[in-house]
Parts: sequence; C-alpha cells; structure tokens
Amino acid sequence: METIHHFINGSAHGGTGGRHADVYNPALGEPCARVLLASGDDVDAAVAAASAAFPAWAATPPLARARVLFTYLQLCQRHVDEFAAMVVREHGKTFADAKGEVARGIEVVEFAVGIPQLLKGEFTDQIARGIDAWSMRQPLGVVAGITPFNFPVMVPMWMFPVAIACGNTFVLKPSERDPSASLLHAKLLKEAGLPDGVFNVVQGDKTAVDALLDHPDIQAVSFVGSTPIAEYIYARGSAAGKRVQALGGAKNHMVVMPDADMDMAVDALIGAAYGSAGERCMAISVAVAVGDAGDALVARLAERTRALKIADGMTDGAEMGPVVTQAAKQRIEKLIGEGVEQGATLVVDGRGFKVPGRDNGFFVGGTLFDHVQPSMSIYREEIFGPVLCVVRQPDVGSALELINRNEYGNGVAVFTRDGGVAREFVRQVQVGMVGVNVPLPVPMAFSSFGGWKKSLFGDHHAYGPEGVRFYTRHKAVMQRWPNTASSGAEFAFPQMK
Ligand code: NAD
Repeated sequence: METIHHFINGSAHGGTGGRHADVYNPALGEPCARVLLASGDDVDAAVAAASAAFPAWAATPPLARARVLFTYLQLCQRHVDEFAAMVVREHGKTFADAKGEVARGIEVVEFAVGIPQLLKGEFTDQIARGIDAWSMRQPLGVVAGITPFNFPVMVPMWMFPVAIACGNTFVLKPSERDPSASLLHAKLLKEAGLPDGVFNVVQGDKTAVDALLDHPDIQAVSFVGSTPIAEYIYARGSAAGKRVQALGGAKNHMVVMPDADMDMAVDALIGAAYGSAGERCMAISVAVAVGDAGDALVARLAERTRALKIADGMTDGAEMGPVVTQAAKQRIEKLIGEGVEQGATLVVDGRGFKVPGRDNGFFVGGTLFDHVQPSMSIYREEIFGPVLCVVRQPDVGSALELINRNEYGNGVAVFTRDGGVAREFVRQVQVGMVGVNVPLPVPMAFSSFGGWKKSLFGDHHAYGPEGVRFYTRHKAVMQRWPNTASSGAEFAFPQMK
C-alpha cells in the first residue's frame, strides 16, 4: 500500500517516529493508503527548513514571488482532475463537487498573484517640516497551517498562496484523513520554481499540531477545523505568543419566508444540506420555516430527499457520496436516534442506507427532521452529515432571535421576495457570512471568509485582504535627511512644527 510522506526542504521525507495511520476510501470502506504521523523531530526539521529559506524568500521582490505563483496557478489548472480524483478517493464527495472545491482554491491563487498591488504602502510627503512618513507591510517569518478533512485541496489554499505571496515560508499540517492533495500542492509548487524550504508539509495528528503550536520559530498559525480544537489552538498558540486565526464549526440556518420563491428555496436547501453529504462548514443544517411556509416546504423537501442519488463519488450523476469515516457514520446515526428519542418528527430516515456494490462504504442516506426544538441535540450539535432539521417559527423576528442565540455564527441565508425584510435581516443577524436568496454565501477570493462567535477565534478572517493583513506586520516609518537643519535636542514630546 502507498505511504504518504512528509515534504521537507523540497523533497520527500520519511519521518523519524515510525508512527502511521490508515487512510480510507470511504465509498469502499477500506484503507487505500497509509500516512506517516510526524514526531516532534519531524516538525523541527520542517521548521528549520522554513526558517533557513525565509530570509531569501522575504527579500525576493513581490513580483518575482507572484510569477512563481502564476506558474503554479497554471499547473493547478492543468491538474484539476487529478486533484479532484484524490479528493473523491480519500474524502468521498462527488467528482463534480471536488472539481468545484479545486476551482475555489485556484481563485485564491488568482488573488495572490496580485500581491505587488496588495502590499503597497501609504506615503505622506512633508508630514512635518522636512519629514516624510510611510507605511509598509512585512512578512512574519515561518507560519503554519492546520487544516480539516472536508476540503483537503481548498482550505490549505485559503492559507499558503497568500502567506507565501507575502514573503513568509510555510509549514502545512493537513488532515490525516485525506493527506494526498498536500503532496500534489508541494510537487506543483516546486515545479513552478518555488525555492526549497518555502513550502513544507508535515503529515500527522495532535503530536505534530502541538509541536507546531509550541515551536518558538513559528510566528503565526492558521487553523480550520471543529470548534473545540479551534478554541484549543487559539488558546495554546496565543499563549506561546503567536498570531492565531482559528476557524471553527458551524450550525447554519436558512430562513424561508412565506413569500419566498418555493422552487428556488427547495432547490437551495437540497443542494446546501446534502451536497458533500453535509460535510461543509457552510452546509445548511437548519431550515427555519416562517409562518405557513412549513407544510409545503417539508412535503417538497421529503420528496426530494428520498430521491437523492447517493453513490460512489466517481459515479456519473451522483449527487452525494459517503461520509468520511465509519466513526462519522456511527456518530451521525446516533444523533438521528437522539432526535427521534427527544421528540422530533423523522420524515426521512437515512440510517442503514446501502449502495449496491459498495456494501462496506460509509454511506448515510439523506435525513429530514421536522418540528425540531432548540433544546434537542440534533439542533444544538454540529452533526456534519446529511441531516436537515426544520424548525418552525411564527415570524422573522423569532427566526432572528433563534439564530442569534445559537453559539455558532458562520453562515446564514434568508429566502424572501421582500427587500425590506431581507435588509433588516442582514443588518440584525449575528453571523459572519449572509446570503439573500443565496444558500452558501462563501465569499470569493478577493473578499475574506470567516464566521462570528464560536465559528472563529482570532481577529482576522481567512484569505482576501484580511489574509494579507494576517500574514504581514504593519510598519510605520518617519524619515528626515540631514539637509534640514537640526533644531537641537528636544525634551518635550515631539509635535508638528
Ligand atoms: P478537526 O477539528 O477534527 O481537525 C482539524 C485539524 O486539527 C486536523 O488537521 C486534525 O489533525 C487536527 N486535530 C484534531 N484533533 C486534534 C487535537 N486533539 N489536538 C490538536 N490537533 C487536532 O476537524 P475535521 O473533522 O477535520 O473537520 C471538520 C470540522 O471543521 C467541522 O467542525 C467543520 O465545521 C470545520 N470546518 C470549518 C470551516 C470554517 O471555515 N469555519 C471550514 C471547514 C471545516
């Protein structure tokens, strides 16, 4: 079986610890590779390579850095299918969905090649007599990215193209569930001319993560994953003096007003709840049916949920594949059981779902609950599976209260034809990314991505302008030349004269 290794200082690295884990093909329910799990020494080797590469890379003109990324961008465009097939094999999502993920990652590289423009500072001539002032942004040094299983191509690309364009060097710790894409990134970056040591990969688990968080030579950590781990990463990384952005989990609501275009709302909910088997941090997991929208909505959702085409992700026309692991399948099915025990109406039950010819695959069928209450565990917990909960509310005010009380605040949507309702909703909702008749309002690469509340710990959102700020330090400069006469020693606090 293939072994997925580390990538340090421009080449494959076999690691020192001897630990490894199985990587599964979730549609088959069997291992397809094994991945090395880094020791502290492996992390030290990666950070040492990144530290050694930093001075020359930081001194490389932004345009020269952008040209390397431009070549990498072209290589990525030629390898879309290869990336997508890797994602299907190790994650399980459909091939079309995986290609969408790759495309959204490539957009961040398209943004990052504009780095000469993005790094421009400000200049003020004659801010005081004989003195000019300007600002500049400088890279931090070695930065690390720790990423989740659900977007193995795209989420690392939220981080390293911007970090590298800004002049940092990078250590990626991808998810151990689907680690192959990290090595294709490394190969293509090297082929594009990126100097050795600028981009490194350590495969692994908590041991590698803790070594990164504690390492004195790492300046900043970007994390995307579940909320408990995000909170831990933020606390431990900040305590070690690092800049940290830690994006966490979600429970995203979609409000359907009685005046909404029901065809549009049903299509939106089916795609956003069950696409990628619900394993997206922007998946809609709660439909809030307002007023009399509920009965028609649930009837139509039930019909569509039963008709979902669930298959191996490489099957033509598949709409949904398996979930990532046997443990994920068991957790999701347990939560469905709790929903029934706690009194929700199970309209479509996806437990025990089988795909012919894939008997051991980790499949869960599309599941629909109605009359869900906020106290139930299916409402409170992030299920991260193909389970949609319908909550009924009398009006938009109570829908907003429900959403604003929720501890997560990643994405939300409202479906309505009333501009006034939509406008007030956008202004009052306590959530970071909002869609109006758009179910998955994932910002494109030239904006920034991030939630509120327990969906993000730290100050900066990911990629876009916020990414440039996160991966650089601001420096303010004041300059005077000796051709202006000295006014002598000044003991009073300096002020403009
Ligand atoms: P996870 O938190 O289990 O793992 C994320 C990363 O943390 C992995 O690299 C993993 O190896 C590492 N990790 C896991 N346990 C650890 C521990 N105890 N100590 C240190 N490191 C540890 O998340 P996941 O299951 O891979 O991904 C799914 C989660 O990610 C969901 O909660 C989803 O909402 C979230 N997510 C959020 C966003 C966002 O932008 N907010 C995007 C994608 C996914």
